[in-house]
Amino acid sequence: MAEEKNDLMEKIVSLCKRRGFVFPGSEIYGGMANTWDYGPYGVELKNNIKRRWWKKFIEDREDMVGLDAALIMNPKVWEASGHLANFTDPLVECEKCHNRFREDALEEKKCPNCGGKLTAPKQFNMMFKTFFGSAEESANIAYFRPETAQGIFVNFKNIIDTTRKKLPFGIGQIGKAFRNEITPGNFIFRTREFEQMEIEYFIPVPKKDKDWENIFQDWRKEMIGWIKDLGIDVKKEIHELNVPKDELAHYSKKTIDFLYNFPFGQKELYGLAYRTDFDLKSHGLDYVDENNNKFIPHVIEPSLGVDRSFLAALCSAYTEENLTPSPSPSQERGAKEEKRVVLKLPNWLAPVKVAVFPLLKNKPELVKKAKEIFDSLKTDYRCEFDDNGNVGKRYRRQDEIGTPYCLTVDFDSLETDDVTVRDRDSMKQVRVKIKELGEYFKEKLEK
Ligand code: ATP
Repeated sequence: MAEEKNDLMEKIVSLCKRRGFVFPGSEIYGGMANTWDYGPYGVELKNNIKRRWWKKFIEDREDMVGLDAALIMNPKVWEASGHLANFTDPLVECEKCHNRFREDALEEKKCPNCGGKLTAPKQFNMMFKTFFGSAEESANIAYFRPETAQGIFVNFKNIIDTTRKKLPFGIGQIGKAFRNEITPGNFIFRTREFEQMEIEYFIPVPKKDKDWENIFQDWRKEMIGWIKDLGIDVKKEIHELNVPKDELAHYSKKTIDFLYNFPFGQKELYGLAYRTDFDLKSHGLDYVDENNNKFIPHVIEPSLGVDRSFLAALCSAYTEENLTPSPSPSQERGAKEEKRVVLKLPNWLAPVKVAVFPLLKNKPELVKKAKEIFDSLKTDYRCEFDDNGNVGKRYRRQDEIGTPYCLTVDFDSLETDDVTVRDRDSMKQVRVKIKELGEYFKEKLEK
């Protein structure tokens, strides 16, 4: 079972490279450990995640607004937020092979690499340092943000003043965060540069626990709904962990981690935290209500990683199927007995929605008609035109990138003005009139 799972991870990494989802970073220079670049299909899928999150949590809600704050902020922000003092992981080093590890991630007290003795843990601050301006001196030290959250807190007053939002309301932001992780790895699961989608939801000072607990539960349900949207089977693949008190981050009174069954183990996908009034208080910010009462709002924070969303969606969508050689409704031209790899992504998430093929590339009348259809669909949906190789091979390629529909223009199309539309998951094919394609896809792709 464990082997099968490792295998799955290897297969996903290989598919990502082979099909242009994710490439190793700086590859032509020998790479740079644990850095990754999102390729043509990867960036589409990632953008789909970000767009949907923004629509669902910012645009469609009256109690939310968005923000895009700077990555590098005044270092005083990190002093006040507690990150300079507390954003640390316990680092141990092997006295023999000098490899470094995160102590809390080790199962044994011996070096996992060579069995050597480990040093006592040192607190290692994970913030990325840089110099701001032309002089490389200590006065100019600045930090890349390790979370997007603080950009939201420091803009709290600006946003209240400009939008006149009343509590409860939230501010959401999507953007990069940087952490000098001691042990990055597992592909895009843990990297030193990654992207977050965070919401800080501000509420009045709770009079009793129920006041914040109810809102916490509302956000818990929202997060579960979002995870389902990604095509993840919540019952089977998600475990909610109530983080024990002694493991809570310095700002949190309660945190739920949503763990996903990654091929390399059950690991954090997202977190939901009750940050109390810790942050606004640290920055000396407050709120005045309509009765002129001044107080410090409390905060519930649903925090999501874009890259982990991407990886979990891919793990859940990855499917291998055996194709039978016998003539059956699912029989495809060019398909011999073979295995097909298919990404069963939800339609909204798929990087390409419709692939358009002329049956043969050397028949100008087929190519012309296929191009016309491609041009008419591409304004509404991300489409791809493909005339390479036989149609069976083109199906395999589209299956691997998760394209829900393939459309083939054949000789009959020239006579009857219809085309074959093939469904990714069932492989069933139907004939659809060219003039009805818009409606057909609208119904399938926009629900
Ligand atoms: P972990 O315990 O895995 O280090 P964390 O509890 O430190 O994660 P948070 O600070 O809660 O993570 O960050 C919020 C979200 O940002 C995480 O749930 C995850 O989706 C994402 N995230 C955090 N660190 C990384 C990383 N190094 N690489 C990719 N995504 C990350």
